[in-house]
Amino acid sequence: MNLIEFLNASPVNYLAVATLEEQLQAAGFHKFDPAMPMPDVKPGDKLYVTKNDSSLYAFRLGSKPLGESGIRLICAHCDSPTFRIKPNPEILMEKGFVKLNTEIYGGAIMSTWFDRPLSLAGRVMLRTSDPLHPQTRLLHIKEPILIIPNLAIHFNRQVNDGVKLSKQKDMLPILGVIDDQLSANGLLLNLIAYHLDVTADDILDFDLYLYDTTPACEVGLQKEFISAGRLDDLSMVHAGLQALLGTVVEGTKTKEVQQQTMVLAIFDNEETGSGTKQGAGSPFLSQLLQRLVNAQNKMLGLVSDQYDDFYRMIENSFMVSADNAHAWHPNYGEKMDPTNHPVLGGGPIIKVNAAQKYATDADGAAVFGEICRRAGVPYQRFVNHSDIAGGSTLGNILTSSLPFRGVDMGNGVWGMHSIRETGSVKDQEYVIKAFSEFLWG
Ligand code: ZN
Repeated sequence: MNLIEFLNASPVNYLAVATLEEQLQAAGFHKFDPAMPMPDVKPGDKLYVTKNDSSLYAFRLGSKPLGESGIRLICAHCDSPTFRIKPNPEILMEKGFVKLNTEIYGGAIMSTWFDRPLSLAGRVMLRTSDPLHPQTRLLHIKEPILIIPNLAIHFNRQVNDGVKLSKQKDMLPILGVIDDQLSANGLLLNLIAYHLDVTADDILDFDLYLYDTTPACEVGLQKEFISAGRLDDLSMVHAGLQALLGTVVEGTKTKEVQQQTMVLAIFDNEETGSGTKQGAGSPFLSQLLQRLVNAQNKMLGLVSDQYDDFYRMIENSFMVSADNAHAWHPNYGEKMDPTNHPVLGGGPIIKVNAAQKYATDADGAAVFGEICRRAGVPYQRFVNHSDIAGGSTLGNILTSSLPFRGVDMGNGVWGMHSIRETGSVKDQEYVIKAFSEFLWG
């Protein structure tokens, strides 16, 4: 599956995880339930587990004990800035116009959401006989059903001088027009029920978000760019998956059992600070790895202390925390650091920050740079302009539970957190090669 297909199949976090699951299962990965006892494992096993339907952890178990070899971890995040549908969202306006009440998710550039054919995707919880275990159904309404219309320039002559937008007033999407004698209440529930072929009474709750129905595409004189929603961070999720599956690795190598254990961790909620059970701040991955060390020790007949082996595993591991970076923008060169200008098409970007917003240090950068060199891939460095505060990402948050050596890196994009971001076709090829060298080399 190429990046464009992957992006189009993954309008929100839940659907991104479902797309990953499909790809992993097709490649022979087996899902296990973290609520069940850890399955018996053997070298070469391909396993994965999900949490909350919105984060995913996939393992390719090596032949060496984890305490000795550590893991090679690629992590990325599957959520992107959007708008979440509030409960009781219908607002009936004059003349039967219905809009939906929303709240913002993450740091979206809100103005980019105007005048786009939008739709809804996410998950819906359905009633079962067991109140503690409702049924989860994914929803992906593919046709455009919503739009957030701009205000005409004639009502705001200053629009091109910058406009302050209200999340509550300016950003509500219009769903349609109904007979204004009727109530709009329940309109959305009925729509969901129709798409899932259930009754509205069966719907207990939902996590639904807006997305732009315009498909991802290539753009540029030589189709050198990718224009798409959610490049941050689905382009890194896609690259991590391709590396784990061994898509560009020599065929014979993928048939042998490697010594090292490879792990792909796709977290949710990076855009809101990672502080959830399915985010990078959760102890979930750390606990999974403890269980994996234990299961592997049992299989290998090792009598060593599993806790000691777990801590040795941490010391012998390396983490590549992959989240998109800012590429030098031809219209805004002054925003970049004076001496470091990473560009689109120039290869993966290592992110460094003196205030330690990124996990990268000289050790991590040295390792990743060498991996790129061995893969025949150019690489670049990003640091903030000293007067401009940058963003944060996964690496440091994860190292609070798993203090791995590692690097924060990502491919460059323009317009990060716009409804459509621009990336580079070549960079995607480069980063898949670099990740493959890291996992398999
Ligand atoms: Zn990101």
